[in-house]
Amino acid sequence: NTTLEVEDKEIYDLIQKEKWRQYSCLELIASENFTSQAVMEANGSALTNKYSEGLPGARYYGGNEFVDQIENLCRERALQAFDLDPTKWGVNVQPYSGSTANFSAFTAILAPHDRIMGLDLPSGGHLTHGYATAKKKVSSSAIYFESLPYQVDMTTGYLDYDKLEANAALFRPRLIICGASAYPQEWDYARLRKIADQHGAYLMSDMAHISGLVAGKEAANPFEYCDLVTTTTHKTLRGPRAGLIFFRRAPKGEKHSDLEDKVNFAVFPSNQGGPHNNTIAGIAVALKQAASPEFKLYAKQVRANAVAIADALKGYGYKLVTDGTVNHLVLWDLRTVGLTGSKMEKICDLVNITLNKNAVHGDTSALTPGGVRIGTSALASRSLKEADCVKVAEFLHRACQIAIKVQATSGKLIKDFVAALESSDDVKVLRED
Ligand code: PLP
Repeated sequence: NTTLEVEDKEIYDLIQKEKWRQYSCLELIASENFTSQAVMEANGSALTNKYSEGLPGARYYGGNEFVDQIENLCRERALQAFDLDPTKWGVNVQPYSGSTANFSAFTAILAPHDRIMGLDLPSGGHLTHGYATAKKKVSSSAIYFESLPYQVDMTTGYLDYDKLEANAALFRPRLIICGASAYPQEWDYARLRKIADQHGAYLMSDMAHISGLVAGKEAANPFEYCDLVTTTTHKTLRGPRAGLIFFRRAPKGEKHSDLEDKVNFAVFPSNQGGPHNNTIAGIAVALKQAASPEFKLYAKQVRANAVAIADALKGYGYKLVTDGTVNHLVLWDLRTVGLTGSKMEKICDLVNITLNKNAVHGDTSALTPGGVRIGTSALASRSLKEADCVKVAEFLHRACQIAIKVQATSGKLIKDFVAALESSDDVKVLRED
């Protein structure tokens, strides 16, 4: 048995380069974070060798004595991290990712062609919440189910609950999905529950982006109102890459009382094979951390940092979607300064700032979105505080101003723009700073 460096120098070197990129950049991608050494250790452990189809105590393979204990610990910790009563809530910790968690949740409660309503992707929703364009059903959630997305208000950027309610009355969904990938404001779960109840619909929250904030009590609690809650484990929650499905256990005889069996069957055997036990161990470690007092401080810092960036950008005169943030992300509308999100992403890459272009409400083309998404989960993991984030906003402002200047001479084509950036002295200076 040799080390990776000896066995495969090519891959080893690329991993070292990526490690350096992560270390030397300002990481502002709202869906990313830096997980702990302990999580990494569990994730890269001998557990990766094991097959364990089924659930603890009921596996299709032998040799699962320790794997069963790990998965049980993970389930207990998942409930503890979100203060859930095990007689009222259960959890499946096997989904390989957020997308498979969502599809398994849908498989559990829906029949093919059932009607679903989720937040539209250009309004900040996720692909898996029923995304389709006018020409194509993109996500399997739109291929296998009938999807009518709801939107944010095109002037304020806030969710338009009145329109959602009116459309739900016409569409009569079987499931309403809340949760987003790019929505900087809070959710009104009570209102959504009321709308769902008008049609006997399930209410599911995909809290992927904000689950760390929910665990840290820095975001409203979706568990009070939802039947199902899914999440990824690697965003604000700071674990390995995977998904979880929480399901409400109703008293026997009540409408949704069989959710547990349905969810478990949907994950395995319907959608997945053997669980990734190494990942489940990593999730267990992350959930133990998420239940700690330090994590609550972390979640608070994530929000404070996002507010600091939002306020500083507004101070420079920029426009933000919903004029600010109450969570871990800021959506910066660049249309008012005549820049596309793609161009801002390019210049940021060149000056060691990693973020992503993002649709902002009212965008007419998904290919050239009008904004960028900025998240603070990773910055807070690296101990950056509000004052540091004001500095980060200054870097972003400088990058934006350079991009505007360069665009004025290079023209609108992105390849000419990138070439001009690469030879720009302003870019070199900003990279050095
Ligand atoms: N749900 C939401 C709200 C997300 O933002 C994402 C990913 O960014 C997912 C689900 C999908 O997670 P994964 O990439 O692990 O499949």
